[in-house]
Amino acid sequence: MDFSHLLISDPQSLLVSRDTCLVCGNHQNRYILDLDLSAMDTFWQHPKIQARRYIHHLKSVCPFQVYECPRCGFIWQRNVLRSDAETWLYQAEPIGRGPGSRAAKYRSGGGEFTYYKSLNQVASGIYYLFRKNPGEIKILDFGAGWGDFTLIAKSFGYDVCVCEVDDDKINYFENMNIKNITIPSKQKFDFIFTSDTFEHISEVTSVLRLLLTQLKEAGYIYISVPTVKSNRIVKDTSAALLKAIRPFEHINIFSPKSLRLWGIKNGLKPAHFGGYLIETRERFNYKSIIKQYILKGWRSWFTTNQLFKKQTS
Ligand SMILES: [Zn+2]
Repeated sequence: MDFSHLLISDPQSLLVSRDTCLVCGNHQNRYILDLDLSAMDTFWQHPKIQARRYIHHLKSVCPFQVYECPRCGFIWQRNVLRSDAETWLYQAEPIGRGPGSRAAKYRSGGGEFTYYKSLNQVASGIYYLFRKNPGEIKILDFGAGWGDFTLIAKSFGYDVCVCEVDDDKINYFENMNIKNITIPSKQKFDFIFTSDTFEHISEVTSVLRLLLTQLKEAGYIYISVPTVKSNRIVKDTSAALLKAIRPFEHINIFSPKSLRLWGIKNGLKPAHFGGYLIETRERFNYKSIIKQYILKGWRSWFTTNQLFKKQTS
């Protein structure tokens, strides 16, 4: 469905308000921002925000309100697009820079080494979680984008599917014989990878629960989302807006604590990769073990890249 006419004629009908903390259910939340959206010039003028050509119709009908839960630290935009309009916006103005553009940036020295390295670490870590033939490990890349992780996982030999809503991306995967599934599906996966997806989704918890029905018992899910501290949002609205929080696009901000709690409340147990790091020639080098294994495990307490294991019922 195309919502562009409704955006002009009745923008209010496309909005929903989220008043309760989506992680812990707390009703007593506080505003950390309550701004007039139409006055936020740095946002509307920024060249990277392509979707503004649609969402500017919304700026006069709702304020930009950002809530923080004092109990768990979850931060979210109160007024967001309802989920069908949210999906439409993503398709109408796909976020991301086209197939291969991130790899091209990497090749030409534009950074991204850490990004590719971390995707490789996850891909190799998956093998040590299951210790079976890669071709027997079924992986779902949920919100796969242009497939940065999908292609790496495929090169490791895993059986990889994607779940995307944007037609250009679905066609791109089809041309490479990578199957796109819609959820709910009959397929079950050993591992679900999802990066930079849940910050876009208004009904985060119902989507997570649906996604977990695709995960086998004792399977793993790796969730990676951007994060920013609330004091930074308050202090430096323009910079924060363009990164972790962005009207109608980046609508949820997890902290390391709220991300872990969200997983636990939905039947997951925090886990971490690790085994593979000491399976090297350096196995008996204690410094390497401390640096790579122990510190790596602790690092997940300070980031919003979290591995979870599905609890067996
Ligand atoms: Zn909360």
